[in-house]
Amino acid sequence: MNIAIIAAAGAGTRLASDRPKQFLQLAGKPVIFHTLQPFEECESINEVIVVLPAAESAGFLSLAGKYGLRKVSRVVPGGVTRADSVKRGLMAIRAATAEIVAVHDGVRPFVTAEEISRTVEAARLHGAAILVGPATDTIKHVEKQKVIKTLDRSSLRRALTPQCFRYELLRQAYHHADVNDPSLTDESALVEQLGKPVTIVEGSARNIKITTAEDLIIAEAIHRLHRE
Ligand code: C5P
Repeated sequence: MNIAIIAAAGAGTRLASDRPKQFLQLAGKPVIFHTLQPFEECESINEVIVVLPAAESAGFLSLAGKYGLRKVSRVVPGGVTRADSVKRGLMAIRAATAEIVAVHDGVRPFVTAEEISRTVEAARLHGAAILVGPATDTIKHVEKQKVIKTLDRSSLRRALTPQCFRYELLRQAYHHADVNDPSLTDESALVEQLGKPVTIVEGSARNIKITTAEDLIIAEAIHRLHRE
């Protein structure tokens, strides 16, 4: 049994809006329901757990049903940080049946079912696998307003989601984690800290994270381009 945890409990404070960004409208429906669609379609995923702000949980399951999302089995209230939210989702999984856990950001609506499948399969083979995108900008290491070093772009990747792991490995990684550490921004870092290898799966640059008001405009354009 492969289970997706969708982290959608953020407050969305960087976007000037009174609604968390995962609930803003994109092409006529909330971002989170776009995000859930490829997981519904992906044959490698059996069940989906959605982590939400406590105030947004009521009625979500029946709304998911109305959008035709049959795999969403549970809604779990989130925590203060993303890591805290994912850990709460992980605690909701029944250990006996879990094989691979795919963790995905609720604000990445453009991942495809094929990308999810490839990442789950790589995790099944290697234990841990993350979807990555190309680094198109040159990245500088900086300190105190000065450039320390220019990094070699050809060996850099942007960490996207889903990030997929054998259930026991992710449990172990979170067991040792300080989920209140603000520098903890993805699951891969936790598994790396355990000294375990993480395989990369090359994904599309279209899998953006909607973080700012500009991102929502870009998302509308991406949606138009890939509709149908
Ligand atoms: O904070 P960041 O932009 O990296 O958020 C990525 C994802 O994590 C978003 O989908 C957001 O809703 C989720 N998140 C969460 N719980 C938090 C903070 C963020 O589930 N406390």
